[in-house]
Amino acid sequence: MIDYQKLRHKMVETQLIPRGIHDELLLAAFSKVPRHRFVPRELFDSAYGDYPLPIGEGQTISQPFMVALMTEVLQLKGKERILEVGTGSGYQAAILAEIVEEVYSVERFGPLTERARKVLDELGYNNVKVKVGDGTLGWEEFSPYDGIVVTAGAPRAPKPLVDQLKDGGRMVIPIGGGFSQMLTLIEKTGCKVSSHEICGCVFVPLIGEEGWKGQHKVRW
Ligand code: SAM
Repeated sequence: MIDYQKLRHKMVETQLIPRGIHDELLLAAFSKVPRHRFVPRELFDSAYGDYPLPIGEGQTISQPFMVALMTEVLQLKGKERILEVGTGSGYQAAILAEIVEEVYSVERFGPLTERARKVLDELGYNNVKVKVGDGTLGWEEFSPYDGIVVTAGAPRAPKPLVDQLKDGGRMVIPIGGGFSQMLTLIEKTGCKVSSHEICGCVFVPLIGEEGWKGQHKVRW
């Protein structure tokens, strides 16, 4: 019988803290969320490894450190309303739900959305709402957001997402080509929007009206 809690603690101790993740709320969330529940059953034993894993539909659950880094960049305190674009497995949404008050997450694949919703429900995350749709258009109904996390690689920051960010809000998004991107922090202050590069990264493409228009436009 595998001790998943022990694997979680090891993940935090060996993958997150040594790479500079120190936010207490974040480390507590990673120690608590059962990551194995968000991957296919045959991958349960690999769920706490230092790498992304396939989740179906050609998509991935990101490496734990990347999920942690993207969350830390938002500088969350606990009262926020966050939009995630790219629900995937639902793991990043669960991490956010441990820290903030409200999480809204959009995924373009129906089967992934349904699976994520089921696991999030089973684990009792009733502060997360997920829907199928084109996340490059955001989720206007619940905007504005204190923070937005885009978990797929975009050619540029989609304008509807910048518009749905609160004054003082932060968005983290991989921007670049199909092979690799630059993890980028976008900050909105009044009508001023600034951006800072964080580090290189590799994500599946953000496909939608304000992202890549289809596979043929993605530079693989
Ligand atoms: N956050 C996810 C998790 O914790 O498992 C990982 C997400 S995976 C790296 C990126 C996801 O973005 C994929 O599931 C993909 O289908 C989704 N995606 C790509 N373009 C999208 C779009 N326009 N709207 C919503 N989701 C999109």
